[in-house]
Amino acid sequence: MGIGKKYSEIGAIRKDPGGKLNVLLVFPNSYFVGMSNLGFHTIYAALNSLDFVRCERAFIPERSQRGETAAPVSADSGELPSRFDVIAFSMSFENDYPNLVRFLSMSGIETSAGARSFGEPLVVAGGCAVSANPEPLAQFVDAFVIGDGEFAILELAEVLFSAKYEKAERSELLDRVSAIDGVYVPNLFTIEYGPDGTVATIKAKGDRNGVERRATARESLKPARTVIFTEDTEFGHVGLVEAVRGCPRACRFCMASYCNRPARFMTPQDILYAAKEIKPYRKAVGLLGSAVADHPNLPEILENLLGMGMGITVSSLRADRIDAAVLDLLRRGGQQTITIAPESGDENLRAAISKECSDDVLIEVAAQVASAGFRSLKLYFMVGLPGETMDEVEKIVSLVKRMKHGLKERSLGKRDVLINVSVASFVPKAQTPLQWEAMLDPSELARRIKAVKVGLGSTRGVSVHADVPKWAFMQAALSRGDRRSARLVSALAETDFDWHAARKMVDINPEFYAQRERRWGEILPWSHISSGVCDNELRRDAERYRSRLKGATNATG
Ligand code: SF4
Repeated sequence: MGIGKKYSEIGAIRKDPGGKLNVLLVFPNSYFVGMSNLGFHTIYAALNSLDFVRCERAFIPERSQRGETAAPVSADSGELPSRFDVIAFSMSFENDYPNLVRFLSMSGIETSAGARSFGEPLVVAGGCAVSANPEPLAQFVDAFVIGDGEFAILELAEVLFSAKYEKAERSELLDRVSAIDGVYVPNLFTIEYGPDGTVATIKAKGDRNGVERRATARESLKPARTVIFTEDTEFGHVGLVEAVRGCPRACRFCMASYCNRPARFMTPQDILYAAKEIKPYRKAVGLLGSAVADHPNLPEILENLLGMGMGITVSSLRADRIDAAVLDLLRRGGQQTITIAPESGDENLRAAISKECSDDVLIEVAAQVASAGFRSLKLYFMVGLPGETMDEVEKIVSLVKRMKHGLKERSLGKRDVLINVSVASFVPKAQTPLQWEAMLDPSELARRIKAVKVGLGSTRGVSVHADVPKWAFMQAALSRGDRRSARLVSALAETDFDWHAARKMVDINPEFYAQRERRWGEILPWSHISSGVCDNELRRDAERYRSRLKGATNATG
């Protein structure tokens, strides 16, 4: 029996395996996390829309109370992963990379792609993190889908289905899938390293140059939506609908924006149609996307959802797009919390990352949130941005206090509005203008986080949560890693995420990946993967970041 039976869910598709390409779609984390991932739902629905494909789901098995972890099985049928033709991983986060290796090894599947034999499943991976830089997983994965997956995966399935019945050799199979737009087969590329440890050459077999990110045209795009409904997931109470893919704001650290260009807004008609399909199962819709507040038809969409009798929640909003009318619609839709991401407490640093928004606007938003009757305001900040000093960190504290004050004034006579501050560490990401920058040492990040916590510790109605810098550091080491980083991924898998033990097991230096500033012109491990934004453009944006910071220093110094 599959673990899906353990949970109550609606919408799972059951198919007979006979005569089909059997795909096991794996989310490399728990059922609770995976079932709120819209990319996972989309690929599941896309594959099962093909008559000749049976797609089932799997997750990382939970540990029993005795500390044991059972071998993974399909959540739908309970079948072993090794019995599937394809294992397809949905990889959104670098910190899940070791789970890909754990899943394969717990399933008795050869972890090294080059050593996998005829008859073993083909291992495929896609998702935001690997689309930016697939190299740390290159040793384990036969083929990556770079960019939008919903159409590429259909073409891939077609090729694999024919190859299955022709009994094509593995090398022949990989050659065929590499011809699909957006599909990257690492085995067809050889990487050589120079004496200083940086990439010296990237050579491709045949006449390949590299791989272009797959980007679905706006007109062909339909909003992703929840297709399997379960209460046992983070957003189980709502049906999720994708309102926008990508973000036009292009904040200079943001992989979600740079790896998803151009931003594509779903039409109000398509969003409302998806909501209609959700309505029999859920009373509320969660509008997802990096730039929901930028949707040109947001008020119209919200009004229509209310008209359908649906509740509404939205993910993070842009402060400069919030107005009383939108807040009123969200409040009527039952939303309790407004989330915004100022990222920095300093106006100039915000402008440098391209999040131009004055303190006054943020304070006014807090006041409006209070006037509209919301219960809480969630604020995302980041510490460790290049060029940041303790002055800017302290400005997070003073900004939050001023926002709290603005909020208090307007909530007079009403319940106090809580502010939840979330502090993350800056992680330089591949394919963004800040990809050349160094990450701060975890101890320094911890010092800055502590300054925010202490600074706000005695402010009533404000709570602070922060990421653990150690895990941000691991994310940084993997997000800009190369093929040699596979050793770290394997060690983390083997030690069950024991960072200190894993570091001792390998002869690579994570600091080399996380904390080294890259030279202009250096061949980066992901130089053969094109996100659609050329290096010159990224460099121009990086220079704008630096000159904005310099301008501020000169002005104040
Ligand atoms: S507004 Fe948010 S999603 Fe958009 S680019 Fe900036 S950080 Fe990324």
